[in-house]
Amino acid sequence: MISKEHIINRFVSYVTVDTESDPKSETTPSTEKQWDLANKLAEELKAIGMEDVTIDENAYIMATLPSNVNYHVPVIGFVSHFDTSPDFTGANVKPQIIEKYDGKDIVLNAAENIVLSPDYFEDLLQYKGQTLITTDGTTLLGADDKAGITEIVSAMEYLINHPEIKHGAIRVGFTPDEEIGRGAHKFDVEKFGADWAYTMDGSQIGELEYENFNAASAVVKVKGKIVHPGYAKGKMVNSMYIAQEFINSLPRFETPEHTEGYQGFFHLSSVEGKVEETTLEYIIRDHDLGHFEARKEVLRKLTDELNSQYGREVITTEIKDQYFNMREKVEPVMHIVDIAEEAMKQLDITPLIKPIRGGTDGSQLSYMGLPCPNIFAGGHNFHGRYEYVPVESMIKATEVICKIAELTALKQE
Ligand SMILES: [Zn+2]
Repeated sequence: MISKEHIINRFVSYVTVDTESDPKSETTPSTEKQWDLANKLAEELKAIGMEDVTIDENAYIMATLPSNVNYHVPVIGFVSHFDTSPDFTGANVKPQIIEKYDGKDIVLNAAENIVLSPDYFEDLLQYKGQTLITTDGTTLLGADDKAGITEIVSAMEYLINHPEIKHGAIRVGFTPDEEIGRGAHKFDVEKFGADWAYTMDGSQIGELEYENFNAASAVVKVKGKIVHPGYAKGKMVNSMYIAQEFINSLPRFETPEHTEGYQGFFHLSSVEGKVEETTLEYIIRDHDLGHFEARKEVLRKLTDELNSQYGREVITTEIKDQYFNMREKVEPVMHIVDIAEEAMKQLDITPLIKPIRGGTDGSQLSYMGLPCPNIFAGGHNFHGRYEYVPVESMIKATEVICKIAELTALKQE
């Protein structure tokens, strides 16, 4: 069995290193401090007995656990990220360990009256009796995704110490800058050399995900004409009113606050306007590729219509694809999802297979040639002061990794 103490100590040793990423930076990693944990992780991988441990000039870490069987087994990989979200501070994290959680309010910070309550966060109740790790209310925790790293390192260590568990070659990859959307950007898929991989970057126990949004951004610029308001008749064109027409022409209920499951949306994320120019920023999301393309077409058509109505080009719309649904790349190799599902079932975990309403590094990696579903890492309430992780979920995730390795080798016998 994997010891609770061991998991806690390892996790705490990671989250107490500040690795917040920065979207405004153009370097990789985006912040110098990510090297602190990256270097520590590379050393730790060597110390537990991993082979070919490499850390490249962008702080991407890779390592190998060699096969211990004498027949061919596909090479599988496990990937997670060591940066934390810039949405909330990750400096001076002081984890609190709550043993045998009693199902009541957890006072994170008495001085500031910050309480983690099951009245608001109902998910807490499924962990009654378990050991929770929380923040002290002033920072995020960083279970996203240091829980994933804890699980991968612990699973590799477990397999090294238990050679009776038969497995093929396993590759491990840790990346910087996932939280700013660049985790996969400089990931060398060829060097990684796995047939497929899993990101350990989901939330609650049982999550298994291989579908995510198709995603694009759109910037709509509306040009107006500024004239002295006292002499404006027939001359002034107020871009804000045209922008308003644009906004109101899109379906009001196809927005994030009115959609769930497989429903897509247009999300107006920012409006900046003056008489002379107004800029609208949208994101477009849809699981279905056809619907996704149709949504982009809606924006283009609306742009053309308003331009012809005004008799000149008052609106320009620039649409950029961001990422695509990994389902397209995973479905042809569906056994990689089946193995993960089977591993969970054998460990008495109920698989929760659902579409992600967002993207993951795995979706980018899948399009780069490494099919890569996402598995739970155990944490809840990411990117804020209420973040927490049950230790039992981290242990289960560790066991899932070992079981996937075992099942992959078994299928080939
Ligand atoms: Zn994450």
